[in-house]
Amino acid sequence: MPRLESLAIPNAVATQPASLDYYPQTQLHDRQPIEDNLETQSPQLHYDLAIVGGGIIGNTLALALQNSGLRVVSIESQAQSISISKGRAYVLSVLSGKIFEGLGIWNRILPHVTQFSQIQISDADYAGVVKMYPEDLGTAALGYAASHEVLLTALQSQLRSAQNLTQMCPAQVTAVEYSQTEATLSVTTPDTDTPVIIRANLVIAADGAKSALRERAGIATSGWNYWQSCITATIEPEKSHQNIAYERFWYAGPIGVLPLADGRCQVVWTLPHEQAEALRDLPADEFLQQLEHCTGGLLGKLKLDSQRWLFPVKLMQSQQYTAQRLALIGDAAHCCHPVAGQGMNLGIRDAAALAEILVAAHQAGEDIGSDAVLKRYTSWRKPENWVILAFTDFLDRMFSTSILPIVIIRRFGLLLLDRIPLFKHLALRLMTGLAGKLPQVAR
Ligand SMILES: Cc1cc2nc3c(=O)[nH]c(=O)nc-3n(C[C@H](O)[C@H](O)[C@H](O)COP(=O)(O)OP(=O)(O)OC[C@H]3O[C@@H](n4cnc5c(N)ncnc54)[C@H](O)[C@@H]3O)c2cc1C
Repeated sequence: MPRLESLAIPNAVATQPASLDYYPQTQLHDRQPIEDNLETQSPQLHYDLAIVGGGIIGNTLALALQNSGLRVVSIESQAQSISISKGRAYVLSVLSGKIFEGLGIWNRILPHVTQFSQIQISDADYAGVVKMYPEDLGTAALGYAASHEVLLTALQSQLRSAQNLTQMCPAQVTAVEYSQTEATLSVTTPDTDTPVIIRANLVIAADGAKSALRERAGIATSGWNYWQSCITATIEPEKSHQNIAYERFWYAGPIGVLPLADGRCQVVWTLPHEQAEALRDLPADEFLQQLEHCTGGLLGKLKLDSQRWLFPVKLMQSQQYTAQRLALIGDAAHCCHPVAGQGMNLGIRDAAALAEILVAAHQAGEDIGSDAVLKRYTSWRKPENWVILAFTDFLDRMFSTSILPIVIIRRFGLLLLDRIPLFKHLALRLMTGLAGKLPQVAR
C-alpha cells in the first residue's frame, strides 16, 4: 500500500469548464465498481474523515479540523483555479465573520470585504424605509459583503499548511459504499488510470445542492421549487453605495443590492421565471432602466459591469442530516431562498458545529462515525436551519404579493420593526445568526 505522501495529485489542473449550472450533479455508482477496483491494483488510503466537496463549506470544515488529530482527506472535482472563479458575492453574517476569526483567516478576509454601515429594508413604492444600524444589534458590524473568490482563496491558502489534511483536487468521487465500520470511496483523478480507494470512518457530503452522496444514501428531501428565479449581476452605480445593504421587496419578488469593496454593487433580483428570463435577455440599457426604477433611483445612474446570471430558487431540507457513516453539510443538507442572504451562512455554521462535535468525540475516544456522535450534529443544526428556511420562505411569500390585506399587515409590521428597538434587535439577531447556539470557535 502506498504511503500517503507518495500519492501525487496535482492541485490546480483545469479539467472542466466552470459550470453555469448552480446545481451540478455527479452520478455515483455503488458496490460493483468498488469491488472491481479492489481486485485490481488500485491504491488504498485510510483516513478518519473524507470530505467530498471543496467549496466554501467543505473547506470551512477542513479548516475547523486543523490540528484536531484527525486524518482528513478533502476531494474536490473542480481545479482550484476554476472553483475560485465564480463571479459572485455573498452576504456574510456577523456570526460567520466570528467563525472565520476563530479559524484564523479573518485577517485575510476583512481587508477585502465591505462592512455594512446600514441595512435598509423597503416595500415597493411605500415611503417608509426601515433603517438598521450596528447600534441596533450592539455589535461593531451588521454584516459584510464578501466575494466568493476572497472567501475561497483565504480558506485554500490557510489549508495549504494543514498537516493533517490531504487535498485531492481535481478528483471526483465516483462510487461509495458504507458498512458498519467504515465507508469506502472510489476516487478518480485526471492523471491516474486506476481509481484511488479511500477508506474512512466518516464521509462528509459537502457536494452541493444536488448532492450525489445524499441521493446515493437514499436520503429523501422536503421542499419545493419557487415560482421565481433569481438574476444576479454586478453594477457600477453613479452615487456611492455608502456601504449600505438594500433589500427592496416588490410584488414580483425581492431585490437585494450588496455594496462591494471596490465601489460596485451586486444585485440579486428575484422574479417569476418568465419575467426573470425576459429581464436577463433585455438589452443592457433597458435592464438598467428597470433596475433604476425598482431601486427607487437610490444609487443614481447604473452601469452594467457583468453578465446577468439566472438561478433557479428552491427550498430544500434533507429529511435526515446523517446516515450510516455519512453526514451532510451546507447545500447538500439544505437550500433556501436567497432573500436576506442566509444559505452559505447556514453551511458555515453546520461546518463549525460538526467540527466541534467530531473533535470532542475524538478526544473522548468515541468512534466519530457512530450514530451516537452523528445524532448530536442533527439535533444541533437541523432545528436551527428549519427556523431560517421558514423565515426566508415567510419573507418571500409575505412580500411577493399585492393582496391588499397582506400588504396592509406587512406595512404595519415594517412600521413596528422601525419603531420598536426590541423588534429590530431580535430580527437582526436572527438574520446575523447570533440567535442560535454559538459554536465555541465563535465565542
Ligand atoms: C443567486 C444566489 C445568491 C446567493 N447569495 C447568498 C448570500 O448572499 N449569502 C449566503 O449565505 N448564501 C447565498 N447563497 C447560497 C450559497 O451560494 C450556497 O449556500 C453556498 O454556495 C453552498 O456552498 P456549498 O459548499 O455547500 O456547495 P457548493 O458551492 O455547490 O460546493 C460543492 C462542491 O462540491 C464539489 N463536488 C460535487 N460533487 C462532487 C464529487 N462527486 N466529487 C468531488 N467533488 C464534488 C463541487 O465541484 C463543488 O465545488 C446564494 C445562492 C444563490 C443561488
